[in-house]
Amino acid sequence: MSGVRTTRPSDRIRVRRNPKKGRYERERIVSILDRGLVGHVAFIDGGEPVCIPFLYARLESDIYIHGSRASRAMRLLASGVPVCFTVTLLDGLVLARSAFEHSANYESVVAFGRAGDDERLRTLAAFTDKLLPGRWAEIRHPSAKELKAVAVLAMTIADVSAKVRTGPPDDDGTEDSTLDVWAGELPLSNEFLEPLPSPGLRPGLQLRISLRRRTPPADDDA
Ligand SMILES: Cc1cc2nc3c(=O)[nH]c(=O)nc-3n(C[C@H](O)[C@H](O)[C@H](O)COP(=O)(O)OP(=O)(O)OC[C@H]3O[C@@H](n4cnc5c(N)ncnc54)[C@H](O)[C@@H]3O)c2cc1C
Repeated sequence: MSGVRTTRPSDRIRVRRNPKKGRYERERIVSILDRGLVGHVAFIDGGEPVCIPFLYARLESDIYIHGSRASRAMRLLASGVPVCFTVTLLDGLVLARSAFEHSANYESVVAFGRAGDDERLRTLAAFTDKLLPGRWAEIRHPSAKELKAVAVLAMTIADVSAKVRTGPPDDDGTEDSTLDVWAGELPLSNEFLEPLPSPGLRPGLQLRISLRRRTPPADDDA
């Protein structure tokens, strides 16, 4: 994603509505991308817009997605059509006194670019470890046949911006703040919970380190 850069935003990515919420620094954009798991990939298919959710991972300056070679989305994206990719982290609801000032706290990224085929095995390993660090070393690796069926796409994004809202409602200190209406923030967290074993799991298998790192300790670990 060569577009993760710190230069002045181009017209295409400059946040115009509430421009103070616009962020263009590499660190900020990378931090949002690295905390997200699901991105939405929008493209044109047969003249009509389509937007499809994907797991993704950022590695260095690229965003990667993977899927079946047979899928419509992967085939089209691999052909290099223009793409708009978005990620949103919802941090909470912002509750104002007036309906008009209600809002949300969020961090989001919008990126434009094109996708292209990538070297699959290396990227699949990095992709898996990005979603769950250490998992690749614990699992069976893909056979040649499985690898052939998978497409891994790297998105070379030319232009990228972030938009961020934090803090209380905007009606503190206004005439509305004299109203008897509770106002403030309702934070929202998105976290992994205790793992649920697969019904067919062989008895006696313990959680591997990758899962233990990402999930809360079980009661008997406390
Ligand atoms: C959280 C999440 C993560 C995912 N991660 C991956 C991934 O890493 N790799 C991967 O290949 N796929 C992933 N998927 C599935 C992905 O969203 C698509 O369904 C899949 O890639 C096929 O896309 P397509 O356009 O080729 O499907 P098609 O079946 O050709 O799409 C035809 C139509 O089906 C409908 N459709 C397709 N997908 C969805 C959907 N997800 N929800 C509702 N309607 C839909 C739309 O109307 C679409 O226009 C994920 C889905 C979710 C929700």
